Amino acid sequence: MLDNKIAIVTGASRGIGRAIALTLASYGASVIVNYNGSKEKAEEVVNEIKSKGGTASVYQADASDFEAVKTMFADVVKEYGKIDILVNNAGITRDNLILKMTEEEFDAVIDTNLKGVFNCLKQASRIMLKQKSGRIINISSVVGVIGNPGQVNYSAAKAGVIGMTKSLAKELGSRGITVNAVAPGYINTDMTAVLGDELKQKVTDNIPLRRLGEVADIAETVAFLASEKAAYITGQTIQVDGGLGI
Ligand code: NAD
Repeated sequence: MLDNKIAIVTGASRGIGRAIALTLASYGASVIVNYNGSKEKAEEVVNEIKSKGGTASVYQADASDFEAVKTMFADVVKEYGKIDILVNNAGITRDNLILKMTEEEFDAVIDTNLKGVFNCLKQASRIMLKQKSGRIINISSVVGVIGNPGQVNYSAAKAGVIGMTKSLAKELGSRGITVNAVAPGYINTDMTAVLGDELKQKVTDNIPLRRLGEVADIAETVAFLASEKAAYITGQTIQVDGGLGI
């Protein structure tokens, strides 16, 4: 489904990003596994892809660093000649109720989750416009759609990502480039492992499908949006949340 495609997945050393990298590779894409700090884990993802006969390489870059991202895209194009798929997955949380939230907590989340996406979109757009083809998938969150107490910073960034997705879809559509977002609900990863059992139960009770999601639920949706099958879908946010955001 993705043979001969070159894909960059940001923050792909673990969790949802890791699953997306493995899934895109399983459909035939060559995957650049971007990471910021976790070199060993990123290399494990690459080794897993290679052990299954796929192609992958690691690339260190802080998504929130404009120059580092610029260099990453230039290097990838130099090595692979093109970029077909960009998945903006890197993200962090710094949860706090607004009266306790510090300026640093707000800025850190906006820098990575919103500006980090802009940084990659800017570089990918230039390359994809020249190619007259490309698939961009931004990982937002159900929290960007319905809000969540303690996540003013995170929901602002994730709602911003949905806005950027729609604007860029309109900018790039005439060149055959699609831009979509996936908004996961609560997915079983390290990010949600920190939630206590009581909170997890409360969340689950509010999910129509009565379970947390799995990384594969997100990765398969991303692979679909990255494929030719989704050629007429752009500017959309697909909520993969068990119905939580209805
Ligand atoms: P995670 O913390 O397990 O993984 C996030 C990855 O991003 C990590 O590998 C981390 O090192 C990387 N990262 C963080 N800052 C970075 C930076 N500046 N540059 C490059 N990489 C960076 O989280 P996850 O649960 O796998 O989440 C992945 C994405 O999905 C995030 O954008 C998150 O906001 C979103 N999301 C997750 C859930 C969930 O329930 N887990 C729900 C909704 C949305």
